Amino acid sequence: MFELKVVTHFAAAHRLKMVAKKCEDLHGHNWKIEVYIAGNRLNDAGVLVDFGEVKKHISEIMNTLDHKYLNELDWFQDENQPSSENIARHIAERLQKSIGNSHIKVTRVTAWESEDACATYYMAPVSTNSNCSCA
Ligand SMILES: [Zn+2]
Repeated sequence: MFELKVVTHFAAAHRLKMVAKKCEDLHGHNWKIEVYIAGNRLNDAGVLVDFGEVKKHISEIMNTLDHKYLNELDWFQDENQPSSENIARHIAERLQKSIGNSHIKVTRVTAWESEDACATYYMAPVSTNSNCSCA
């Protein structure tokens, strides 16, 4: 199994209901995002996937979040508040769709909202049978 990691950032504002009073008021974070991608099949160039391609997909997603008021975005309405947990899940699911290759799995995304606090969303594990061509 090979795993790649790409680190990126975005800055945005949010407010969260029903948690510590401090978080209910409008405030911002400089989120640090760590994206993990795994697979067990390398291409002819000896890489799982070109970093440039992965970064292109990630930066498209970051552009939809950067300098936004996250509570106003469609994905973060009602039950789905823009917590670091939900931000991590949103990025993971969107990136998996953008990559559109069943051999390359987004395994987890970690969203750091400060230097000492982060949330990680784990996607379903990569199948170890994906190299099998006997089906
Ligand atoms: Zn916050």
